[in-house]
Amino acid sequence: MAEIKDNIYGYTTTEIAELLLTGDVKKYRIDQLFDWLFQKHENNLDDMSNLPKSFRTKLAETYDFSLPHIINQVESSDKSIKYLLELVDGEKIEMVLMPTDRKTTLCLSSQVGCSRNCTFCATGKLGLTRNLTTAEMIGQIVLAMKLLKPEVLTNIVFMGMGEPFDNYDNLVKTLQILADTDGLCFSPRRTTVSTSGIAPMIRQFADSGVKAKLAISLNAAIEDKRCELMPVNKLYSLQQLKSAISHYLAYNKYKVTFEYVLIKDFNMGKEDLKALIKFTGDLSCKINLIPWNRVEGLDYQSPTQEEVDEFRTAIMRVNKAVTMRQSRGDDIGAACGQLAYQNYINKG
Ligand code: SAH
Ligand code: SF4
Repeated sequence: MAEIKDNIYGYTTTEIAELLLTGDVKKYRIDQLFDWLFQKHENNLDDMSNLPKSFRTKLAETYDFSLPHIINQVESSDKSIKYLLELVDGEKIEMVLMPTDRKTTLCLSSQVGCSRNCTFCATGKLGLTRNLTTAEMIGQIVLAMKLLKPEVLTNIVFMGMGEPFDNYDNLVKTLQILADTDGLCFSPRRTTVSTSGIAPMIRQFADSGVKAKLAISLNAAIEDKRCELMPVNKLYSLQQLKSAISHYLAYNKYKVTFEYVLIKDFNMGKEDLKALIKFTGDLSCKINLIPWNRVEGLDYQSPTQEEVDEFRTAIMRVNKAVTMRQSRGDDIGAACGQLAYQNYINKG
């Protein structure tokens, strides 16, 4: 049986250098390797032309260089492309690339499925199969960078399948490789992690010193309603969530974004608006309104454009930093976080 090698994209540059730096491999060779991997986004050893054959053989013996494998892709009328990717064990995930004039955003997955069981979400219906490895998350990013050439990736959102904070260690390592100046050298200012509100992990993340923007899927600011939509609220109440967010804000210069999925006749009434204003009013934040995207087999309804506009106008009287996702990308299906990330493409 063939030996299973570790994927190189799961390692930090420090770890790779420590393993490879030996008498016959000089530091500048390692820098050349990093240049191929993280700047040129090349994963084929045969094409790493300035590396000596002996070094390439050693690399091939030590690491697996493969990226997630594209098995299908669908382009939307708005130019967003959804990729179905296959992982080494045959599991499948989605990633979405969304190019516009000013920005190109990648929405990547952090798990195969999700265990949090939110009642409005297609991924929640799948249940959790497994966490993604760091290599599988970095793999999506490198793959996206490679596909985009000669254009560049400007923004990354962890809003695809999965709850990133349920895969905390692999997430943190991914963010470290992403921001590493010898690695992908991608600005934390352009990286957003979206969470359903795992309060203790928000605190741990704030304390870790690892930088990224935070988006919180709020979706309701009334305890009972949020429990109904998002069972995670039974574990960490709105009050605990708010206190964790305040902790994050105290340690970070970034605002947080509250995502609010608008569901007709459920979370768009006067009392919902009042609760949303009360919850967010004293926090340094933006609000991202997302009309609910229909999911086969779920009983909720999407709001009309008028209902959406009314809610948006009302919230904007109090908080000017409100964005709204246009109903674009719907024609390619949207299990991947239901394309909620699209709001991010219209921001600075
Ligand atoms: N688990 C994380 C990240 C993935 S979900 C989280 O919950 O934040 C990404 C976003 O997609 C969340 O804001 C979620 O509320 C939203 N979402 C899920 N299903 C949706 C649907 N059917 N329509 C619109 N947005 C949806
Ligand atoms: Fe999981 Fe996020 Fe979907 Fe909830 S909204 S089930 S946390 S992916």
